[in-house]
Amino acid sequence: MSIDLFRCKTCGQHCYPARLLCFRCGGAGFAAVPCDGGLVEECTSLPGRGAQGGALVLASIRSPAGPVVIAALPAPLPRGAAVLLRPGPGRAVLGDPA
Ligand SMILES: [Zn+2]
Repeated sequence: MSIDLFRCKTCGQHCYPARLLCFRCGGAGFAAVPCDGGLVEECTSLPGRGAQGGALVLASIRSPAGPVVIAALPAPLPRGAAVLLRPGPGRAVLGDPA
């Protein structure tokens, strides 16, 4: 399962999350583009903020198309590690080591 990035139908710029207008050209039409994963750029742990009092691990994941997606990980990963992305509860994105 993957998440959706959004590609501007006018100029091709990818963005995430969805926007009302393209930040590059001002276009208002977008097409959903599946994204399976990306590479960790930054990772941080928030003690006591995760499930059952554990750490919540958040990471910035650079997608191949360019946009950065913030995802919750099961454990910290080093910069450059490959991650698979999937939808989580609500609007959350979950990442798993690839
Ligand atoms: Zn555009």
